Order: sequence, then C-alpha cells, then structure tokens
Amino acid sequence: MTRVIPPGSTIGVLGSGQLGRMMAIAARRMGYRVHTYSPAEETPTGQVADLEIAADYEDLDAVRAFAMGVDVITFEFENVSTEAAAAAAEIVPVRPNGAALHITQQRSREKAFLADHGFPTTASSTVATVDELAVALGQIGVPAIIKTAAFGYDGKGQHRIESIEDAERLWGIIGHQEAIVERFVDFSHELSVVAARGLDGAFTHFGAIENTHKNHILDVSVSPARIAPHLAGEAVNITRAILEELDYVGVVCVEFFLTRDGALLVNEIAPRPHNSGHLTFDACVTSQFEQQVRAVCGLPLGATTQMRPAAMVNLLGELWTAGEPDWSGALALPEVKLHLYGKTEPRPRRKMGHITALADTVDEALEKALAARELLT
Ligand code: AMP
Repeated sequence: MTRVIPPGSTIGVLGSGQLGRMMAIAARRMGYRVHTYSPAEETPTGQVADLEIAADYEDLDAVRAFAMGVDVITFEFENVSTEAAAAAAEIVPVRPNGAALHITQQRSREKAFLADHGFPTTASSTVATVDELAVALGQIGVPAIIKTAAFGYDGKGQHRIESIEDAERLWGIIGHQEAIVERFVDFSHELSVVAARGLDGAFTHFGAIENTHKNHILDVSVSPARIAPHLAGEAVNITRAILEELDYVGVVCVEFFLTRDGALLVNEIAPRPHNSGHLTFDACVTSQFEQQVRAVCGLPLGATTQMRPAAMVNLLGELWTAGEPDWSGALALPEVKLHLYGKTEPRPRRKMGHITALADTVDEALEKALAARELLT
C-alpha cells in the first residue's frame, strides 16, 4: 500500500537553489507547504518557501530537527552527505533513497554502477595520483577529459587534456584529489531524458531533450530532440532500466552523448529535476517539478504530454555586465516566458534565470528563444 502524503502536508527540500524554487512553486500551487534547508540565507528556494533553515549539511542534529517539521524530504542538490540523508531518513521518508544519492553524487561510483549493470558509458578510469593519470592517459588516449570524482556540476572541476604533458599541470589545478579521466567523445548530439518513477513503480518521461553546452555549462535545450525516434526510445529505455535498478522514487535526469556512429553513451545521472527539463514548466501538461512533488508524495504521476515544441536558453550572470537586461524587448515576443531565480548577485557563469520559447516547430522555438536572449542586451 502506498501511503499518500496529501496536499496540505509539508515537503522538506535539501538544497535551496532554482530547482528547489521551481519545485516549491509547483508544490505550493498544489497546496503543499515547503521547508528548505541549506547553509545559505535569502536563497532562491527560501524566497518562495514557507520556512528557510540555514544550517550546515554536516550538522546532523539540525538535519534531524528539520526532518521533525516535515512529512517527506527530497533534494534539489545531490551533494548532500549520505550521513545527512540517513539522519533525515530516521525520521521521515527520504525520496529518492540515500543509496541512489550515494551512487549518483560521485562520478567514480556512478561509472562503476553503470558499468556493473551493463549500461553503455564512455571509456574511463579512476585515478588517485599523477602517475596513475599518466598510465590512464596512455590507455585512453587524448584528447581526454579529467573530472574530479566528487562534487562536480556545471563543469566545475573539469578540464580537457590535449597532451600527456598537460596532465601534470592539470593534476595541480584540480588539487590532487581523486578524479576520473575519460575519453573525449566525438558526439553529434547531447541528449537528456528527464523521467520519474512513482512509489508504485509507475514510470513517465518527457522523451529525449537535445542540449548544447558552452564552457561545460548547459546553454540551450530543445524538445523534442531532433533525432531519429528509435534513438529517443532507446534513451528512454536505458533511463527506465536505471531507475528500476536504483529502486528510484522521484525525478531523475540521465544525460547522454549520441556518437557520430549512432551509439548512445550515458554521461551522467542527476538524481533530481534538471536544467534541461525547465522547458517542461511551460511546454508540458505536467512539469518536471510537479512530477517530483507527485512522485515523492506518493501521488499518481501526471501526464507528460508536450503541448508545443519548445526551446530553453539559460541566462548567466554575464548578461548583467552592462546593467539590468532589457526584459521588455524579449517579453514582447509571443510565447516567450521569463523565469528568474531571485539571485541578487549576477556573477559570471552563475545561472540567474532562463527563457522558454514555444512555437510550431522546434527550429522556430529555438530561433525565438535565441532572439529573445539577444534582445536582452
Ligand atoms: P558533465 O559535467 O560530465 O555533464 O560535463 C559537462 C559537459 O562537458 C558535457 O555536457 C559535455 O558537453 C562536456 N563533456 C563532458 N565529458 C565529455 C566527454 N567525455 N567528451 C566530450 N565532451 C564532454
């Protein structure tokens, strides 16, 4: 029997960024209360939550006290310690479960999980010393990418290695910590599948979304992806199998490379709603954020039907270089939607907001989203 956590209950969110903010907006629309927990104050999630707790993730007493005040806990940020997740789970359900979090928050564990279960990934090695790095590069070849094993997102702790001589310098830059090196993939597309699994094992997905990154940060997403339908289906099937294997409850995003010879390789798994799924907020019957609320509260998952082709462009701090962007220009375009995250300091590379554009075709939506961003400056 699934125990439903009904509207009116309180959802606890570990993390306080824009993902938590948009989840909180979806939750409040359905009559839930939201509490958020992170080390910061005046956060994107805190601004729209009923309660914002500022405490360290390592402060397990504070995590337990937070858990006492909510009916279920979920994440918007996966770099929460497994100890904190376990402390919370002593008191309330934590969804997705701590094991899924443990695996997906660290690249070498995630790679091992994928390889052990036969999911396709890029060739990679875990290295702990500069000598191991040299050996791994000898096997993998260059160009390669080195990524810190833990706590990486938005290209943080990630560097491209062009030559074996580069390796020593980059090892210094990433700070002599455990890392993985992987072969640089010559891909034709980057894709993601945002999907959800309910408490009863039900599965829904938003199909394949096509992503473009700039400086390792997501820049543009379009949906549906402009790829052959059988490839989108294959990506969805891999995602579903990963969720089953993790006994997962909640929203996940699996990122893929599609190689030039048509092979899908899993790049990484994000155990939460994802930037590439932001367009579902405006384009789909149920957004990824509402789906996360439904999944973690044991409600039936919503229909993921996409109503219009859509494109999303991120708005990074650089856009504020010459002052406040010109919102009116962009919003004058039909079917353009603005989302800002309430961040007051527009630092370079910081995700400040995004724009979604809807249109009759994906190409038109993309053109419109790019034009809207262009009009901001
Ligand atoms: P990640 O943090 O692993 O998702 O990497 C961020 C972005 O860097 C990816 O979406 C790609 O655009 C690029 N990237 C990462 N790993 C590779 C790789 N092995 N080959 C080619 N591009 C990569």
